[in-house]
Amino acid sequence: VTLAANFVFITFLFPGKPQRVEVSYTLFKQQVVLDNVAEISSRADTIQGSFRSPVPYPPDAEKAAQVSDFSTVQPAFADPGLESLLNEHAVVINAKPVDEVRSPLTTLLFSFGPTLLLIGGFIWLSRRAAGSAGGGIFGLGKSRAKRYDQTAPGDNKATFDDVAGIDEAKAELVEIVDFLKDPRSYTRLGGTAPKGVLLVGAPGTGKTLLARAVAGEAAVPFFSMGASEFVEMIVGVGASRVRDLFRQAQAAAPAIIFIDELDAIGRSRGGAVYSGGNSEQEQTLNQILTEMDGFSTQGGVIVLAATNRPEVLDPALLRPGRFDRRIAIQAPDTVGREAILRVHTRSVPLNPEVDLHDLAASTSGLVGADLKNLVNEAALLAAHRGMDAVRQMDFMDALEKIVLGPARPLILSAEERQRVAYHEGGHALLGLLMPEADPVHRVTIVPHGMALGVTYQRPTDDRHNYDEQYLRSRVVGAMGGRAAEEVVFGSRTTGAENDMQQATSIVRQMVTRWGMSEKIGPVALAPEGNPLLGGGEAYFGTSRPYSESTATLIDAEVARIL
Ligand code: ADP
Ligand code: ZN
Repeated sequence: VTLAANFVFITFLFPGKPQRVEVSYTLFKQQVVLDNVAEISSRADTIQGSFRSPVPYPPDAEKAAQVSDFSTVQPAFADPGLESLLNEHAVVINAKPVDEVRSPLTTLLFSFGPTLLLIGGFIWLSRRAAGSAGGGIFGLGKSRAKRYDQTAPGDNKATFDDVAGIDEAKAELVEIVDFLKDPRSYTRLGGTAPKGVLLVGAPGTGKTLLARAVAGEAAVPFFSMGASEFVEMIVGVGASRVRDLFRQAQAAAPAIIFIDELDAIGRSRGGAVYSGGNSEQEQTLNQILTEMDGFSTQGGVIVLAATNRPEVLDPALLRPGRFDRRIAIQAPDTVGREAILRVHTRSVPLNPEVDLHDLAASTSGLVGADLKNLVNEAALLAAHRGMDAVRQMDFMDALEKIVLGPARPLILSAEERQRVAYHEGGHALLGLLMPEADPVHRVTIVPHGMALGVTYQRPTDDRHNYDEQYLRSRVVGAMGGRAAEEVVFGSRTTGAENDMQQATSIVRQMVTRWGMSEKIGPVALAPEGNPLLGGGEAYFGTSRPYSESTATLIDAEVARIL
């Protein structure tokens, strides 16, 4: 089989004809006019043919070759005079491309060649797969973990210095670093080191970075893999990838295994409706549990995993001996954000007037990944503006772009602009007048993303606990745009849609989550959910745990407060 395959290959590559040289279309036409073209054939826009006597090409170059077989490409604009020109100069026009005139043997090989190649390839691959023990067909069961060798210097190396603003989480991981540095002395009094540590936090808070920093501090290899990569279309692959990953890590111990998005495979097995895909997910999960039970930490392998949805995880994962440590990573506060900005501006030239403290105060709600992005955008913007250093203004403009989306080159008519100005004016006024409202920071009627205008209010401090008056002020502020339009123009527009969504969301949570309605009282009626991570506002479908009359009452209360 291999022989035949090789043969086809050779026939294909060396058809045994003189080499065809690609010449310019201009040269080709010149030669036609000089009566030097014997015959041509053409397919699509390619023309192949031969000259009667060889032509030197490229013209006036020292290394010009004598060309007798040529090909050229007809320009995209069709050349209508070409056919009559060819006829005039008695050029033979073939029906078949010259190169495809082949002997019967070659034709036979061409038609069977691909099949033979496939068969040969298949046999070769399965031999290879059989050679590597337990690899499954074609190595599908191999883990695709990326290995970062933290012992070698390189740009992948991270240390605790690169992580800022999440000091509590860092402090908890110091112990893991100590253990990895010297597993034996750590457990000499009979204690067992943790096997699994679960990092819980919103996306972009630095979970992956922290795991890499642990490996970097301990100078051990780091095997990283996204949980969704374990599970693919083919059943059984996930489990064997897990096996392979743990085997690799144990061979390199002490080492860290990092599984990102653990919730993609570690979802609770009960309750949900089962489908075919879930049993594959379940097998993968079981394999992880088996591996974690099987290896002893004496070997020095520690599994770190990250998730932003701890509430959906299977309880079996959280039992002692598995992911029994949980480290919550909060979004950074002002001090933390300033520290993170300092880390990411280390190699960025800053104008002396840049005030990172003020910038940190203006970026409430942004997490590490956002701040990194902010620094990057500001640096790009400053470079684009021809500056040598990044100014505070570049940061503020970059922030506006990140929070609101890029400005859109949308031309509004004068009336529309005026309406938007009054609308935003309404928001801004109420932002200034309502007690406890966040101070108004920037107002714009330059369209951004979906918004025609934006009023940007920025909290002075990080708030952890919102009082009712603050929430009411926000609702009132949201109503300000529509109200201003009604006062000035006496009519309504669609522009208030987003305002009403925001207001409704706040009020619904006041009623169902925070017990701020007298009629309903202090009853939790919203689904469990982490308000920090978003979602969990209302039940969908029939699963809500209260009666129809309560539902009616909730709706009435929401409408009344709004
Ligand atoms: P997660 O895994 O939580 O989604 P990542 O660790 O992937 O977040 O964060 C993405 C990037 O954001 C990191 O590579 C890092 O550059 C930056 N970053 C996130 N959090 C921090 C932090 N606390 N300190 C410094 N940089 C951070
Ligand atoms: Zn509005």
